[in-house]
Amino acid sequence: MPLIVDKDLCNSCGECMDRCTMDIIRLDENGFPYKKYDECWYCGVCEEDCPENALILELPFLVK
Ligand code: SF4
Ligand code: SF4
Repeated sequence: MPLIVDKDLCNSCGECMDRCTMDIIRLDENGFPYKKYDECWYCGVCEEDCPENALILELPFLVK
């Protein structure tokens, strides 16, 4: 499942990338985060630690 980024709120600080427990987040050419790899285990750290509340972590059906 992709990260949903509110591009009006995201300031491209990279905090989500730095804190991702699986080190799978990267910033794209516009400075917005995306999951580069598939190993997300839906810990929620990226969403919780975003200082701008710009991230929404969509959970796959089986994790809900
Ligand atoms: S932590 Fe939040 S504001 Fe910073 S790059 Fe990630 S989504 Fe954007
Ligand atoms: S939910 Fe956890 S593993 Fe998945 S992208 Fe966010 S910090 Fe990384």
